[in-house]
Order: sequence, then structure tokens, then C-alpha cells
Amino acid sequence: MNETNSNDRLNNVMKGQVLSSQADLDPRDKPLLEIADWCQQRGTIVVLKSGIILTTDPVSRDVQNCKTMLINRGIRPGRVMVATQQLITLMLANVAGDEDTAEQEVIEQAESSISTQQQRLRLLVQEAINADISDIHIEVRPEVARIRFRKYGELYLHAEWFPRLGREMASVAFNKETDHATAHFNPLIPQDASMPLRIAGQEVRLRLASMPAHGGFDVVMRILGVGDQANIVTLEQLGYTPEQVYIIQRAVQMPHGAVLLSGPTGSGKTTTLASCMRLIRDTRKVYTIEDPVEKVVPTVTQVPVNTDKDDRSFASFGKAALRMDPDYIVLGEMRDEDTANVMIRAAITGHLVFSTIHTNSAPGIITRLVDMGISQTLLSDSNVLVCLIFQRLVPKLCSVCNIPIHDSKHAPVYMDRWKIFFGEAFDKIRARGAGCQKCQRTGVGGRVVVAEVIWVDEPGRRFIRACDMIGWEGYLRQKGWKNYRDRTIEMVKEGLVDPGDAEALVGEISVYSSEEGFDYGRIREEMAAHAKGS
Ligand SMILES: [Zn+2]
Repeated sequence: MNETNSNDRLNNVMKGQVLSSQADLDPRDKPLLEIADWCQQRGTIVVLKSGIILTTDPVSRDVQNCKTMLINRGIRPGRVMVATQQLITLMLANVAGDEDTAEQEVIEQAESSISTQQQRLRLLVQEAINADISDIHIEVRPEVARIRFRKYGELYLHAEWFPRLGREMASVAFNKETDHATAHFNPLIPQDASMPLRIAGQEVRLRLASMPAHGGFDVVMRILGVGDQANIVTLEQLGYTPEQVYIIQRAVQMPHGAVLLSGPTGSGKTTTLASCMRLIRDTRKVYTIEDPVEKVVPTVTQVPVNTDKDDRSFASFGKAALRMDPDYIVLGEMRDEDTANVMIRAAITGHLVFSTIHTNSAPGIITRLVDMGISQTLLSDSNVLVCLIFQRLVPKLCSVCNIPIHDSKHAPVYMDRWKIFFGEAFDKIRARGAGCQKCQRTGVGGRVVVAEVIWVDEPGRRFIRACDMIGWEGYLRQKGWKNYRDRTIEMVKEGLVDPGDAEALVGEISVYSSEEGFDYGRIREEMAAHAKGS
């Protein structure tokens, strides 16, 4: 923050007294542009349109050369003034930034210094991290570049920029800050890259993706991880119940088998995996195959895959890791049959494998694997599946401004339905308030995991072999198992989650559950009753 303030001051000084002629600098002026290019290469010298020469070293040979160049182009050299390296760097960046073609130009600079655009980018990311933002959306259109932040699942407008600044930030991010030195931002094609940034002494990892749009383009930056293991939270802190944590701990201690974690995109699976890694003892060798490496865990070997290349896929790196004397293998994501086969092979050959998969429930993991082409016989092998986890995230009420459900603005038709469903517990339910300073007027104070965890036992394997997921769920319920819907309703009862937010996640909460079948007549009766009431 302080660094930025001092740069702002420098900027003001530049515009103000010392360099009053800066505004005169027209980069379209060709002879000056050539000299500006030469200055860019030097990095320690700047010439203003008035001829004034700014340099870190007034007696250097560069100053003499510069004067000669000016005279040869019919410009009278002005005074030579001493300036700090920081000011010169800033000025050089601004000269380049004044041109609309900044996207195509790679500004050559000394390695140690960063441009104002790079500083702006860091400031933006820093703001996002401070506000607990998961994604930064930059939407560049002809009239405006809109910056929107996603917080706890919802987007809100953070700032509106001139389109040029949006374009500059996008090119700076792709061309200057990504892992691949060869990356070049092109707003006309979808691109993606991984971006490590060092901000305020902390390592921050972001995933960049761009997409052309009518009249411009979008860039989305997902904040993957800040810092190292110190920031990895426990499963309890994420929202897992003590009983669920017990089951996962038991799974991690198994000598071999597979622990599979599922959930939609953006449901915090990576965070949960990192928390699971913390449960593993240091005497074990862990390989994680990731796309890209999101959270840095120092005690494990993290391998980044490149899904564009066959020889660097999850499957090929997974196979390679099996030859590296591992105890644990984490396959970032199971997208295809190849990766799923590696998972099975690793489990059968005596390793404990972790992987993630996209499904809508924990039992759904089986259906999905069968869809991918894995046989039910293999899946029901006692050496393969150990534990299945499914998780989603639900907004948690702000601890300061939440209100009693009776004061909330939910429609009466909902309130009546919940009153019947929750019975006596209804009075204890809390709802989103108007918002306060703590929650930045959102009424939401973070997100919490609602999960279902299945320990795969002998009877479970029989259901898997028969691919009878409905029968399996019935059996699990008899044994006291709770699915993520039950868990979400519990959190509503505890006054931690607004019932409206819960319904957005699990669907209608009412006494009429789907088991009885959808009742059209009841809907008609309820609507009629409300029409009469109002
Ligand atoms: Zn609040």
C-alpha cells in the first residue's frame, strides 16, 4: 500500500512542477519515438518533448549519445536533470502506456523493476484478496471496462475503467506475469494460463482465462492460493462434522485404496484435498498431479500437468508417479477413462489414491465411473474404493447483521412452507439482514461446506456391483447416514444459514419430499389458500 502511495506521489510530481512539459510528449512524433525506443533499451534515461533529459547518471556516455541523437534529428537538447531510477522506470512505462498499441508492444525493462500496469494489477489482486474474493472478472467493451468481483458465490461491481486500461491489464497479466514466457495475449481467441504473483511478501497463485466477447473480451482471474501451508485450514474449519472428519481420517490411514471427492466446479474441492494432505504423516511420499498447482504444500511433490499435451496428461503423469516409489498419489481430476484406470491401478497395486470428479452426489460417483467405462466388478473390489465424499458450499450468515426469520423479507408462501417443515425449530432460524460494514453490505460472512461422506463397507460393495444407487442410499439412511441436504437443513436450524440460500442449493425445503412424488393438487390448494389470505 505504502509503495503505491509513493508511486502516486511520483506520478503527481511528474505531471506537476518538475516535468510540466510531460503533457507535451507525443509518442506519435516519429523522431521522438525512435529516441523513446532507445531510452526503453537503456532503462536509465528519458527525454521529454521539450528536450529535457532525465537520467540517473548525468555524466554517463549515454547522455552524450542522447544529445548527439537529438541534434541529428533536429531537436535541441535541453537541460540534463538527475532523477531516481524509480521515476525513470515509471516514466518509461507511461510513455509506452500512452500508445494504444501497448498490447502488441513488449516493454523491455530491467528485471528488478515493474511497470505501473504491473503495480496496478498487483493492487487489484491485493484488494481482491483482502475482500476474500474468489474471482476477478474484467469485462472489456467499447465504452467501458467493468471489474466485477465474485464473493461467496455472487458477483458485484467493483470498478469501471476506461477500456484502454482493461486492455492493458489483460496484456500485462498474460504477457508479463504468466508461467509461460511465450504467452501472448490475443483478445480474439480463448486463452488460459497460470499466474504466480508476489504481493506484499506473499506468493499468490491465480488462474487466468480469457474469452472473446461481442465488442471486446472477458478475462477472469481465479485466486487459487495465497501463501503456503500456514493458510491451509482443517476439515472442521471448512464445515465437515466431527463424524465426517473421523471417517476421512480413517480413510487416510488405509494402506491402499481410493478416496474420491466430488462436487461441482468451484465447490472448494482443491481446498479440501489440501486439508486431507495435512492429515498424512511426513514419513510418507506423496505425489500430486495437478492442473495447475493451486496450493503449495511443501512436504509433497507437486507435478503440474498440461492437458493440451497427451504426454503430460493426468493419466501419463499418474502412471509415471507409480514408478517413483509413492505411498500416496493425488490425481487432480478424473475427466476420462484413462485417468480413472490409473486411479484403479494405483489402488490395486497398494497405494492410497485421492482424486476429484464432477458429480451431484456421493453415490453418483459410482454412476459416473461406470459411465466412463470402469466395470462394476472392479469398483466393488475390496481393494479399490475406501471412501466417497461429496461437497458443496453454502453462504453463511454474517455474524453481526443476521436477523430473526420473522423479520425477514421472504415471501409468505415460503415462510408458511418452512413453518410447517421446521415446526418448533422455526423460531430459532435466522435470515440475511440488510448488511453491515463487516460483511460489506452482503449479509453473508463466508461460505461453509455441506458434505456427505460414505465409508464403503461390504454391503455397500454389493450395491455397487449391482449399480443400485437408490437401494444403497436407503441402506445408508437406515445406518444413520446423512446426505448434504440433511446437513444443509441442520445448518438452517442452527441459525447459520438463511433458508432461502439453503433452498438455492438443495431445492424446496418442505414436508412434501420427493419420495412421495410431486403433488400437483397440493400446489393448487396452497396457491388458492394464499390468494384468499391476501
Ligand atoms: Zn453483516
